[in-house]
Amino acid sequence: MTASSARSEIRRLPDRGSYDPAVINSILDEALICHVGFLDEEGRPVVIPTIHARIGETLYLHGSPASRMLRTLAAGSQVSVTATLVDAIVLAKSHFHHSMNYRSAVVFGTARAVTDADEKAAAFRAIVEHLVAGRWDGARRPNEKESRATAVVAIDIEEGSAKQRTGPPIDDDEDMNLPHWAGLIPVGLERGPFEPVDQTPLPDHVRNWSPTGS
Ligand SMILES: Cc1cc2nc3c(=O)[nH]c(=O)nc-3n(C[C@H](O)[C@H](O)[C@H](O)COP(=O)(O)OP(=O)(O)OC[C@H]3O[C@@H](n4cnc5c(N)ncnc54)[C@H](O)[C@@H]3O)c2cc1C
Repeated sequence: MTASSARSEIRRLPDRGSYDPAVINSILDEALICHVGFLDEEGRPVVIPTIHARIGETLYLHGSPASRMLRTLAAGSQVSVTATLVDAIVLAKSHFHHSMNYRSAVVFGTARAVTDADEKAAAFRAIVEHLVAGRWDGARRPNEKESRATAVVAIDIEEGSAKQRTGPPIDDDEDMNLPHWAGLIPVGLERGPFEPVDQTPLPDHVRNWSPTGS
């Protein structure tokens, strides 16, 4: 599979890249948040972290109608969204070969305001389910007032790329006998102890929450 256009073509270390939508989507789905890049009202670039959810080839973002990001995107901006999962810190014998193991996705599209009530409801559901699978039925649904007070923007994905690094450090042969520790420090998102607000029994969808979403 090749890049749809030069915009999403991975130039450095292209063997680490993929244009397979299944790979790109799996990274978007596992990442709890994304970073949204767009041009502000004065044409200056800005990147904003936010919660997202995917339905098919469309990403949904939501928030206050006063959000600059959502107001700008709703007007039909070109947008780039990045999701990043860090899997390990890679320590090499030499500083030069230090790195990270990661999976990342970069997608491009044109944003649009979501005004259709059914699409908005589907986006609310996808966003809640993206945080915790099973949560849509585990809490009260948005009422009319809350729905009106929440702006939703859709980004129909036009093209994208994924990139990943896996495996140990790649040191130069002449450095292999140096007395420095080299290897991986695996890292990742972990669930901490639950902190309930009251005595409501812990439901399965909360007990079973996993950082990989599965
Ligand atoms: C956690 C993490 C740490 C990194 N640290 C460094 C670092 O310290 N220094 C460094 O130079 N690079 C780092 N990278 C790699 C970096 O993201 C770029 O891949 C790199 O700058 C090479 O870009 P380029 O010039 O080939 O492509 P560019 O011309 O910048 O990008 C062209 C297109 O390639 C695709 N693309 C580029 N990078 C990625 C990516 N990571 N994931 C998905 N698609 C991508 C996009 O579609 C982009 O539009 C890191 C990546 C991650 C995820």
